[in-house]
Amino acid sequence: MKFICIGRNYAAHIAELQHSTPKDPVFFMKPESAITRCNRPFFIPDFSQEVHYETEVIVKINRLGRHIQEKFAHLYYDEIGLGVDFTARDLQRTCIQDGEPWEIAKAFDGSAVVGKFLPKSELPDVQDLHFHLLLNGEQVQTGHTRDMLFTVDRLISYVSRFVTLKMGDILFTGTPVGVGPVHINDRLEGFLEGHKSFDFKVK
Ligand code: MG
Repeated sequence: MKFICIGRNYAAHIAELQHSTPKDPVFFMKPESAITRCNRPFFIPDFSQEVHYETEVIVKINRLGRHIQEKFAHLYYDEIGLGVDFTARDLQRTCIQDGEPWEIAKAFDGSAVVGKFLPKSELPDVQDLHFHLLLNGEQVQTGHTRDMLFTVDRLISYVSRFVTLKMGDILFTGTPVGVGPVHINDRLEGFLEGHKSFDFKVK
C-alpha cells in the first residue's frame, strides 16, 4: 500500500505557511514504512529540530482504479478516519527553497499516523465532517471538510490520472490551520465527528 497526501487544501493553512494557492491539487506520497498505527508512540526523528503535526481526514481506497471520473469517485472508498501527516518542517523549508523533493521531510518512518476508520454510512457526508486535535488536552487544530479547496472526490479523480489507486491505499486530504511542533512526552488525541480516532504519545 501507499499513502497519497494532499498539500495546501485549506486556505487558512496556506496562509499560515505563506504558500500560494494551487490551481490543481498538490500531492506527494509516503511509503508503507511510514505507517504508525494502533495508537503506538510517534518517535521524533533525530534529523529534525522541528517536527509538526498536521491533522487530516483520511480515506481508505477499497478497489483498484485509474482515470476515475469525479462522479464515480465515491465508489472507491467506504471508510473514513483521521490521521496525522508528521512533517519535518525545517527540512521541508530547505527542500522548498532548493527546489528539491520532499521525501526527507514527509516520508520518513512513522510519519503517517493512521487512526481508527469508520464506515462512511456512520458519518455525515464526507464534505460535512468536523474534526479536531487535542495536544496535551488543549484544542490546537479544528477543521471542517467543507473548507477544502478540492473535494475528496475531486482529489481521487485527479490523483488517479497519474497514479493507479489500489485497495488499501490511504489518502491524506490535507491539514487545516493550526499546525505546530511536537515535543517528547506530548499526547495527541484526534476526534472525527465526536469519535476518538487516535490517542498516542510522542517519544
Ligand atoms: Mg499534510
